[in-house]
Amino acid sequence: MHAIPDLTLNDGQRIPQLGYGTFQVPPEETAAAVRAALDAGYRHIDTAQLYHNERGVGEGVRDSGLARNDVYVTTKLSTGAHVPDDTRRAFDGSLEALGTDHVDLFLIHWPMVLSYGGDFVSTWRVLEEFKADGRARSIGVSNFRIVDLQRLLEETGTIPAVNQIEVNPYFSNDPLRAFGHEHGIITEAWSPLAQGAALGEPAVQQVAARRGQTASQVIMRWHIERGDIVFPKTMSPERMRENLDVFDFALEAEDLVALATIDRGPGGRTGADPDTFDYKPA
Ligand code: NDP
Repeated sequence: MHAIPDLTLNDGQRIPQLGYGTFQVPPEETAAAVRAALDAGYRHIDTAQLYHNERGVGEGVRDSGLARNDVYVTTKLSTGAHVPDDTRRAFDGSLEALGTDHVDLFLIHWPMVLSYGGDFVSTWRVLEEFKADGRARSIGVSNFRIVDLQRLLEETGTIPAVNQIEVNPYFSNDPLRAFGHEHGIITEAWSPLAQGAALGEPAVQQVAARRGQTASQVIMRWHIERGDIVFPKTMSPERMRENLDVFDFALEAEDLVALATIDRGPGGRTGADPDTFDYKPA
């Protein structure tokens, strides 16, 4: 198996381009799943306060026997509103649950621009504190739209290292990716397999047959060649290895044309839309 490439973020930190995602990994099964992913060769784990499995992520990392600095850990702020003191408390809680003195990347999970959300700019200024004191090596955002990124760029001093957004062959999300690219913000592609729905697509299956790869490997390769960071979720150690084994083949122009035929634009979303998503107040 070939090594997973690193990408360099706009703050100079390096991040493995392919990792393991833990959304919907049950808390009581997380330590074993993370340990299995690390045994399979993953060195980057994506979690969030909202997933209620940070404790298991920390356990899995420790059980693996790897040094903390050899595993890249991302978590995300999921407070009910943008309140600076809540952000500080929630971040302390994440470090405690993960059992670590720092995270590699800390993200605002959702901009929450509707009624209860408050102001994500005030939250971003608190994330800047975490970066300055070294407890977050890098800081970024998730589910930010172009208008949200523009506001952050205009009103604050730090460009987010990443924007974690939905991207998969059903929803290429290219205008938002291009805006990020123009401003040095790397895209992290969530639900890269459209939660598994894209795997049965005839166009994907045809490319897989042509390249002698599986459907999931074709989609992973599509993301990697687009330059995005990606972290598929699976509970199966065999699929963990399959999803990682994508560095010894390349897609050809005809494959990209075939995959482009299933892009449905915003109608191809699998998950929530930042235009309408909001937490309810606790
Ligand atoms: P994915 O697109 O990674 O798909 C996961 C699904 O695909 C699971 O049902 C899994 O089933 C199945 N699967 C995975 N690999 C294979 C394979 N090789 N063959 C067949 N089926 C497979 O969905 P996620 O929504 O989990 O997205 C990935 C990560 O992105 C999340 O875990 C999370 O870290 C992040 N995310 C972030 C969001 C945000 O708002 N910032 C929102 C959503 C996700 P099984 O487990 O049974 O193998």
